[in-house]
Formats: sequence, C-alpha cells, structure tokens
Amino acid sequence: MRGLFRRTPLEYPTGPLEGHKLAFPMLSADGTTAGFSGVTLGRAHVYRTVDDAVCAHGCRHACPSRWCDCGFYCFHTADDARELACAPEHQGAILLEVAVSGRFRRYELGLRYARQRVRTIRMRACRCGARVAVLADTGSGQHGWRRLEPVCLRCAGARPVLSAQRFAELAELTLLPDDVAAGPLTTPDDAAGFAEHPDPHGTEADDLIGDPVAAAGAVAVLTAEMALLQARLDEMARQLGRATARLDALEGRDLPAAEPGSEPDR
Ligand SMILES: [Zn+2]
Ligand SMILES: [Zn+2]
Repeated sequence: MRGLFRRTPLEYPTGPLEGHKLAFPMLSADGTTAGFSGVTLGRAHVYRTVDDAVCAHGCRHACPSRWCDCGFYCFHTADDARELACAPEHQGAILLEVAVSGRFRRYELGLRYARQRVRTIRMRACRCGARVAVLADTGSGQHGWRRLEPVCLRCAGARPVLSAQRFAELAELTLLPDDVAAGPLTTPDDAAGFAEHPDPHGTEADDLIGDPVAAAGAVAVLTAEMALLQARLDEMARQLGRATARLDALEGRDLPAAEPGSEPDR
C-alpha cells in the first residue's frame, strides 16, 4: 500500500460515496452468515455486509483516526482494486463494490472510513485460470470463520463447497457476473476459431474432464508436474552416480593402482 494513500486536500462530498476493494470471502462456522476478511491491514478482522470499522490495533478511538491507519479502505475505481488483485498473495480474493458512510478521509486513490455496506461482489478466476464454479473451503480461517476461495470444480476437488449465488444470498447482496481479465487475454471458449480447431486429444480429454477450459488448466498442471518429476529424476540420477562412484572407490580400496598416480593404502 506504500504511496497509494497519499493525502489530498480536505473536501466535503455532496453525494453518496462509493468504492471498490478486494476481500476474502468468509463463512461463519455454523454456516449461517457470510462475511469478508481484508487483504491488507484488516486481515485479522472479519466484517459483515453492513459493518463498522474497529481499530486494527485494538485502540478504542473512533475510526478512521488521524493518528492511526485503522478503518475500512477502498479504491475510487475498480481498476485499482484489480491491480491490487494481481499480487499472488491476493489470489482467492473477490471484488467488492461498497457504499461508504460515516467519518471518512479521502486520499488520492481511495477512502479510509468508518462504515460500509457491501453492495455487490464479483468472482475472480480460479487460480488455475479457469472460470469459477464454486466457493471452496480453504481449510484456513479465523476464530468462528472459515475462509473460502473461488475455484473451478477441478480445483475444488473433494473440499466442501458453496455456490457463489448461495454466498451472495447469505451475505444479502448482489452477485455480479464474474470478473474478466482486461486486454488481449480471453478464455479459450471466447477465442475466435477455437471451436474449429479442437484439440487432437479433445475426445479423450472431454471424456475425462468434460470442460475444455478445465482441460487446458489440467494440461498446464500436468506439464508443470512432469517438469518437476523430471528435475527430481535428474537429481536422483546424480545422487545414484555419486553413490555408485563412492561404492566403486570403497570396493577398489584394496586393489593396487585403483587411483592412477596414487598409492593405495596398505
Ligand atoms: Zn486505530
Ligand atoms: Zn481451477
């Protein structure tokens, strides 16, 4: 966040304030309530759809305090939130559009404020790049809350899952269509001519997976795993070579002239 929230001159808004941010989707331990966990300063705190900021440092002052960095944060534009989303540690976070109220401080790129209502959420692509199908339990979380992550069915595996729509209902907000990467990136489904040039192994892959996008992700994963296995095999071959050479040296200890140019021990 270094430099992102430089102060601008004091001003007074005339209309409702809106913002965009990233958050990890959370589900209460009893499964009845949805919430969010911040990706930066507020990581340790879970907030609900409508909530008031509390000081992240445990102080009792009202947020946002001039002398503290606490409070909710948001960007003015969704694009800035998307840029933050590119950081690998933010994989699994979803995009939120929020309405800001209460005390606030305005900065160049966004706001720091006391109260917010999450209006809408957007899923971001699965970490494998495929389209999101469900929210899966990550196995981590905080006291009373499980952290979920948007994933494709393949990456969900055998984990407990929740549909994005069900999550939105629990959170009492609107689920918008999935976020799509800007610029020249497209999903294979949308790429022109993709259908006319099916993968030669398409039939087999379709039987296996049934989803060309997931299949492409699976191929990428398999390729990476094969490269890893190859590297391990190379390392094992090197170790075997060293062990064989050592064995030869030990067995050859009593043989004269085992090492050319050196006298064997007697
Ligand atoms: Zn504070
Ligand atoms: Zn995936």
